[in-house]
Amino acid sequence: MIITIDGPSASGKSTVAKALARRLGFHYLDTGAFYRAFTWKVIKVGVDPKDENALYRLVKETQIEVQNAHTGIKVLVDGRDVTEEIRDPQVTEKVHYIASKARIRKHLVELQRQTAAGTDVVAEGRDTGTVVFPKADKKFYLDAQPEERARRRYAELGDKKTTHEKVLEELRLRDQRDSTRQASPLRRGPDFICLDTTKLTVEEVVDTLLKKL
Ligand code: C5P
Repeated sequence: MIITIDGPSASGKSTVAKALARRLGFHYLDTGAFYRAFTWKVIKVGVDPKDENALYRLVKETQIEVQNAHTGIKVLVDGRDVTEEIRDPQVTEKVHYIASKARIRKHLVELQRQTAAGTDVVAEGRDTGTVVFPKADKKFYLDAQPEERARRRYAELGDKKTTHEKVLEELRLRDQRDSTRQASPLRRGPDFICLDTTKLTVEEVVDTLLKKL
């Protein structure tokens, strides 16, 4: 069985997808981790993130593995554990170059499908219900007010060098990039079940999704 959860940054997707997967005994598939993992490699090798041909050559020779571990997920690039490093701000800042290239997306989407093959899975991202698993058994879309999403992200960061306003500004920029790019933009399909999580706790969201299932 395949369940997809799409939505903008900090809408609660990852937390909810992990909790739902745990409750159901399913695997959890973080599709954003594939974009982050390849961005990490691009930075490490020093390839120009705007050069699509160079990126395509590089992605074909890069081994990306996203595994389910007891502690969450484990991300390996060419055998090296980069689980922590893919969350670095410089990766977050550059990932949009990678996520906007159709040829790179096609390659990473194929890897995502291979990773999920033969398992029951809760997948989350921006295009899991529209592109990665168009025949998923259930498709959800989570959203929340930008102010609330920024509040969550700020609390999660625990980084007092930044401010709520700055986080909000970055979030709006990512929203705009994710929903206006040509290649697989963030959107809700007609077969999606949408939920606004602004006033809900994680448990309430998970319970709601379980009821819908
Ligand atoms: O979800 P996360 O923030 O880790 O994703 C990192 C970036 O990867 C997002 O900002 C988005 O641009 C991109 N992404 C995507 N499609 C997905 C998942 C993530 O374009 N399915």
